Amino acid sequence: MKYALALVNIKGLGVKTFSYLIPDGMNVQIGQAILVPFGRQGLVNAFCVGFSDYLPGDFKVKKISKILDEKPLFSIDYLKLLEWVANYYCCDLVTVLNAAIPLKLIEKASKVEQNVEFITFDGATKRQREVLEILQKSGKMPLVMFEKQAKTTRLTVKKLESIGCVKITAEELYRNPLDILNITETEPLFELSPEQQKVYEGIKEKLCSNKPILLHGVTASGKTEVYFKLIDDTIKSGKNVLFLAPEIALASQLTKRLAKKFGTRDVAIWHSSISDGERYDVWQKLYKNEIKILAGARSAIFAPLQNIGLIIIDEEHESAYKQTSPAPRYDARIVAKKLAEFHGCSLLSGSATPDISLYYKALNSGNLFELKNRYNDAKIPHVSVINMQEYGRAAYRSIISKPLQTAIIETLEKNQQVILLINRRGFSTFTQCQACGHVIECPNCAIPMIWHAKDKRLKCHYCNHSEYFPDFCPQCGSDALKNSGTGTQKIEQYIKELYPDKIVERIDSDILVRKGEHIRLLERFQKKEIDILVGTQMIAKGLDNPNVTLVGVISADASFNLPDFRASERGFQLLTQVAGRAGRGDFSGRVFFQTYNPEYYALASAKAQNYTEFYSKEIVAREEFDYPPFSQIVRLILSSENNFRAEKSAQEIALRLCTMIEKYGISERIIVLGPTSCVIERIGGHYRFQIIIKNKLDEKGHRFISSFLSKITMPKDIKLTIDVDPLDIL
Ligand code: ADP
Ligand code: ZN
Ligand code: ZN
Repeated sequence: MKYALALVNIKGLGVKTFSYLIPDGMNVQIGQAILVPFGRQGLVNAFCVGFSDYLPGDFKVKKISKILDEKPLFSIDYLKLLEWVANYYCCDLVTVLNAAIPLKLIEKASKVEQNVEFITFDGATKRQREVLEILQKSGKMPLVMFEKQAKTTRLTVKKLESIGCVKITAEELYRNPLDILNITETEPLFELSPEQQKVYEGIKEKLCSNKPILLHGVTASGKTEVYFKLIDDTIKSGKNVLFLAPEIALASQLTKRLAKKFGTRDVAIWHSSISDGERYDVWQKLYKNEIKILAGARSAIFAPLQNIGLIIIDEEHESAYKQTSPAPRYDARIVAKKLAEFHGCSLLSGSATPDISLYYKALNSGNLFELKNRYNDAKIPHVSVINMQEYGRAAYRSIISKPLQTAIIETLEKNQQVILLINRRGFSTFTQCQACGHVIECPNCAIPMIWHAKDKRLKCHYCNHSEYFPDFCPQCGSDALKNSGTGTQKIEQYIKELYPDKIVERIDSDILVRKGEHIRLLERFQKKEIDILVGTQMIAKGLDNPNVTLVGVISADASFNLPDFRASERGFQLLTQVAGRAGRGDFSGRVFFQTYNPEYYALASAKAQNYTEFYSKEIVAREEFDYPPFSQIVRLILSSENNFRAEKSAQEIALRLCTMIEKYGISERIIVLGPTSCVIERIGGHYRFQIIIKNKLDEKGHRFISSFLSKITMPKDIKLTIDVDPLDIL
């Protein structure tokens, strides 16, 4: 081949590929870091991602200057997976490369040899502090400092050395912070209970079939222990394991648990917020096949783990596995299935509340395994449904009903802990004029603004627009504006007033602003340093704290009331999961759902903690309306600042698509709905129209749709967003 395709990251241009001439005698390979000339920037770092014999256009081509590193950082197979992702999600390869390969990797390519870096005790993260404590105990107390921090504190490396610092190279420090912890004496795996053992053996037998397997186990049934046994088998057979958790905090918890069982040397973590240095070094270790178990959040699906023998997706039902924005709008669960195919291994998903589609498929393929009891026969928590229509009117008018209040007091008296779920961040949910009924909406998006008491501002949760609380109603001029509804901040404040001597903390996406705060709060909660934890669905996930014996859901209806075909499924999952946080240890748990709609079927199934009951009702509705698993959904959004043009282009596309479908005589199998305005009609000043395509032809239908879409070009003022397998259609 004459030309190489180089992936570069240029300021202002972003990540792009360009063609370069391969000089005579240069043997450049895919995945190698190379140096290429680029305009006024001079020489820049790049990666070779492909070859061709001709140029895509008529221009003067430059030569590759140098191969930076003989050892490639990814393989052709790796690129093949990314190509598949680009095809499946109807976007270009560069977009996927951009999401998959950390930019810093490109920039750092030539700087393989690291300088000495230091960390201070103060600036250190919790994990680094643990490392330091261990070094301290071993009598080698270093003062370590990151280079950047050294600069801001004006300490020179020399000065640091003069006061007795120990040098740690970035390689040593970053590669895998667990390394320095150096847990070599691992704990033995638990002996499985008879129920776990049976499931474990069943799964083990299926593993060689290389098919997706589902482990449906009630909360606290000990799914993780079953995974650990399978991991142990896999690494003993010389293969590696990829273990995904839905989000960073859970992935870190998991990594610790893994390190305790399998040692720190073989385990690494991968997610979007690990430092660039760490990412760079983990990447190299992975590529050199030096990591046996990689734990991580969504993006870990693109880490170059070699020789995979098993992929595990825990809490499989979580929507965090899907990237909704920006493109590629990939779903790690779907990519994982492909990745497993590439490696010829099995994909094991686990959840107490599996995705309806996945459960349907597992049930029909005979690859469904179930753990029906909690480990050690811990009782499934008792759920009480509180009809707020009664309590709301009683003399005791409150956001927290009397029975829940009593339960909170009883629980705190026993020194046990409480979780309160309110699925709305902010203070209240909308601000309404009591005189004319006007609700204050974001000027850019068609949704109510939410009052944030802490910052004393109304905020839009879609575009981040914020404004002061108006003195008068913009519609009628009355001063009767009132915050209605309840958000996490209001509950937090309210609970603090009710129990002033208790420690109350809040977890919602507003606290994510401070890096690591989520993990710190969860750790404090685990150590009983927090009595009551208030939060959004973020607290429903994966927490295993045996001292939590009470869970209260402030407004159980909130998640059922969305105009989306998955709303009942989401609501059921959330309620079941959060209920599952109670009574996981020796003490039995109690759960309260406050609702205005106590008869609702999904709520009733969640009360009974009965997944199969919910499934059997839900699957009937899905079939009747051709929703997944009975179809694949592709959602197109046309958005523009010009309402008319957005609508017009949506109509045009829908018409062209329908004509094509009729021409091929497949109008029964590919169904086009819309265009209609989206439920959220406007975001950030852009009007939104959507077309929903239901594909009942599997891969063939997908190919038909993506080939249709690839031929569409849009004028500059209209944006086409393609979302394959969208999680919601709001
Ligand atoms: P799940 O992932 O199903 O919610 P976990 O795997 O977190 O449940 O297990 C719940 C609790 O029970 C954990 O604290 C775990 O350590 C404990 N556990 C589960 N199985 C065993 C076992 N076989 N032996 C000892 N402890 C176990
Ligand atoms: Zn008004
Ligand atoms: Zn907005």
